[in-house]
Amino acid sequence: MNLRQTRLLYEILSQPTSPFREDLVAEVAIRQLLHRQIPHFVDPVGNVVIGVGSARDYRALLRDPDAEPLRILAAHMDHPGFDGARWLDNRRLRIHWHGGSPLKHLGGANVWLATREGVFGYGQIRKPKLHKSGFYLETAEIQLKNPAQVRQFPAREIFGGLAFRAPVWQSGKRLYTKAADDLVGVFAILETAFAAYGHDGKKRPPFIGLLTRGEEVGFVGAIGHFELGWLAKAKRKTIFVSLEASRTLPNAILGKGPIVRLGDRRTVYQADYLKVLSDVASRVLPGRHQQRIMDGGACEAAAATIWGLPAIGITVPLGNYHNQGFEGGQDCAALQGPAPEFVHIDDIQGLLLLCRALVRPGLNWPDPWQQQKLRLTKNAKHYSKLLKRSDARKK
Ligand SMILES: [Zn+2]
Repeated sequence: MNLRQTRLLYEILSQPTSPFREDLVAEVAIRQLLHRQIPHFVDPVGNVVIGVGSARDYRALLRDPDAEPLRILAAHMDHPGFDGARWLDNRRLRIHWHGGSPLKHLGGANVWLATREGVFGYGQIRKPKLHKSGFYLETAEIQLKNPAQVRQFPAREIFGGLAFRAPVWQSGKRLYTKAADDLVGVFAILETAFAAYGHDGKKRPPFIGLLTRGEEVGFVGAIGHFELGWLAKAKRKTIFVSLEASRTLPNAILGKGPIVRLGDRRTVYQADYLKVLSDVASRVLPGRHQQRIMDGGACEAAAATIWGLPAIGITVPLGNYHNQGFEGGQDCAALQGPAPEFVHIDDIQGLLLLCRALVRPGLNWPDPWQQQKLRLTKNAKHYSKLLKRSDARKK
């Protein structure tokens, strides 16, 4: 990555975000798109749609029976975090948590607090209460650190998340951050748009970027987008491509490259389109990509599948998924306690190359198994004499 790219990645990773509080991430994206004159608009549920200037243009593009399938690259702008509920006294804020969370060592953990204007202070978690399932934090109190920040804002304007030494920092090739999931995906979509549109923003590549909201609580923004019905009425082929950062697993190792995601905890993805993706990965990242079902979690490709859209996925391996200290590392005080997420620079670089190659026109979408079919046919022919042996048939 060059200096400009690194700066943009740091800027995105520094934005405070939590489910339904994605405005600051969306603002960075929109500012970049305006600067490069890349068409975009905000859909009725607040997702940022890249590649078309309005809902009308989008529907027209989907109605155009172009032979080139439209790739819809999606990444979510939120990350697990909390909403302020009410002030308990001058320094204590009651909160509701949204999405996954660490389950241990939560008492005393540091958090950042923000409003629509940005981060205004820091606090510590007190009296954490897990949901009755035991799978995530439900409520807690936040004790504000600086008495000067007391009750500066109405409780309901405040949101926050787990805080570490900085929003983002690098150690060797590891990038530590409060939230790589899924801001790395947001970054990759913007970079894909920059590369695909060129400098004047005039070329229209066969690609739409979709930056979604509220993924961490059940793909709410993506479902809102599907429910608009625009994609269901498309006259041209569409392929939903989920970009994610997801929990490292055996054979999905940090630093070994982005992963062709064959499926998630809910479902497998569309086999024909996965074949195209896998071939593209073998070509542009030989020996530097991975391939497997990432069943540590589910993603928007599962939601797309449920809503009838053929879907595939790409993901970068993620350490300390949802800030749970599974893998330890810097600023992880105790295993399974609050910890910064981390990703590997080489995996992000690979992700950019893969996305860029995937939106190029002319890939073999119509007949992805052509080579395999030829090879297998030839092989079958080779054995045809054995197949015809009568004694073998009698058995
Ligand atoms: Zn995610």
